[in-house]
Amino acid sequence: MTLSLYNTLTRRIEPFEPLAPPRVTLYTCGPTVWNFAHIGNFRTFLFEDLLRRYLEYSGYDVYHIMNLTDVDDRTIKAAAAAGKRLGEHTAPFVQAFFEDRDYLRIKPAHAYPRATESVPAMIRLVEQLLDRGVAYKGEDGSIYFAIAKFPTYGRLSRLDTRELKIGARVTSDEYAKDDPRDFALWKKVDGVDEQVGAAWEAPFGRGRPGWHLECSAMSLEQIGRCCHAETLDIHAGGVDLIFPHHEDEIAQSEAATGRPFARFWLHGEFLNVRGTKMSKRFGNFLTARDLREQGVDAAAVRLLFWQTHYRKALDFTDEALAAAGAGVKRLGEFQERLRGAGGAGRGVGELAKLATKFETDFRAALDDDLNAPRACGALFEFVHEANGALDRKAGGAAAVRAALDGAMGVLDILPTAKAADPALERWIAERIAARDKARKSKDFKEADWVRAELRAKGVEIEDTPGGTKWRLV
Ligand code: AMP
Ligand code: ZN
Repeated sequence: MTLSLYNTLTRRIEPFEPLAPPRVTLYTCGPTVWNFAHIGNFRTFLFEDLLRRYLEYSGYDVYHIMNLTDVDDRTIKAAAAAGKRLGEHTAPFVQAFFEDRDYLRIKPAHAYPRATESVPAMIRLVEQLLDRGVAYKGEDGSIYFAIAKFPTYGRLSRLDTRELKIGARVTSDEYAKDDPRDFALWKKVDGVDEQVGAAWEAPFGRGRPGWHLECSAMSLEQIGRCCHAETLDIHAGGVDLIFPHHEDEIAQSEAATGRPFARFWLHGEFLNVRGTKMSKRFGNFLTARDLREQGVDAAAVRLLFWQTHYRKALDFTDEALAAAGAGVKRLGEFQERLRGAGGAGRGVGELAKLATKFETDFRAALDDDLNAPRACGALFEFVHEANGALDRKAGGAAAVRAALDGAMGVLDILPTAKAADPALERWIAERIAARDKARKSKDFKEADWVRAELRAKGVEIEDTPGGTKWRLV
């Protein structure tokens, strides 16, 4: 079987094949750094992490781009409220985002273009759209995209154009546009923009980019740079971005390049709290740093999210998080047991057979539109059966270890290793060196003594071809 993904563009699960295998270009809409991201935002970023990791597990060479929205209505408003310049206000939230990402074990993207650092590309894109006649200057001095000039508008969100008209009429600035459905590419500067330093000179007037324009410009610039491409293999985000954000990204990009903007559109469902979307606006949110301060292992958060399919809403509860924590603990115990199992045992085939079966099930589940709940089901069944086989002293633990390592490369849900304090680390290094010396001079009694000494302090050691490794247990 090969990987199939649900494509919002076609509303179907389709076999995935990149344009230029093994390279996969992946663009994911990043955080708006006006404040700390909440774990709802991170549900989307974690779904994208799963996607990225599973593509890599499947042999693809992924180039992942995630933008940072560091200039838009919200960042400007927040900076003004704090009495700060835009960059001064957003810098700590960018920093916090990277810390939270690392805490949650999300693999870093290959590029993090920032909107404020990509303005020249945005200006070029607006000029192109003006040249092609699909953009115009409104009566208010802002530049708008003319939806009427882009006949396939609405294809992604499948919104009835009449609905669009009704929806857009309520906006206050419609008088400035030719058509109420048109959206701003470039907003003419106002007093607050100047106050916080969110204004740039452009041939079509001083102003600032619209949010949708930012993503089109950054994604096209980045894939041009990395891969000489104009079409993304995959574009992803949360479901709330389908309309208008992604619809507008398509219109701008395709009107400029004349090529399909993205081949696969993937959208993750919401993290809810008692049925309501987690959101700063509703005040029902929790940040990653809240969880970290509570001592929550990031592995539990990951497992909790994997246990619901990314296209289904997930209600966050402390009980569900605690249950995921228990699952993580079970995995940790299993890993410990495998470490102790060594290579010996009878019936080498039994564990190896279980490992092969698990790998097949794991792959089949994730190939099926990233069915992580099924993959986790297969994992825990594997743990259960392998524990039984280990009780019977079955052999083949090496195959089990390899299968577990492979799956963890995707799910990454083993308990976080306890960190040692620096003084203890120095002592451990010194003791390991003493043991090495003893072993070299064939003083195995002394070597065993050192090992026991380490164990007494909760340090387990393992001799590998790359040297002696240690960990706290
Ligand atoms: P923002 O920082 O607001 O630009 O949002 C960043 C990402 O988080 C976007 O992809 C949103 O779709 C996503 N998002 C926002 N709220 C939620 C939520 N409650 N559950 C899942 N994803 C969300
Ligand atoms: Zn975007």
